[in-house]
Amino acid sequence: MAVPFRRTSKAKKRKRRTHYKLEVPGMTECPNCGEYKLSHRVCPECGHYDGKDVVNN
Ligand SMILES: [Zn+2]
Repeated sequence: MAVPFRRTSKAKKRKRRTHYKLEVPGMTECPNCGEYKLSHRVCPECGHYDGKDVVNN
């Protein structure tokens, strides 16, 4: 619900924002090249997914 921003205390606001994550969740290391990538996505570095090169074939 919309509330005027001064009605929310600094502590309340800061505690809510502790749930904001620094990085995008779901990041894993690519088993082929070791770069960080989104899980369940093709690696943007080497184009591998599920142990196969799915870009260059
Ligand atoms: Zn990769």
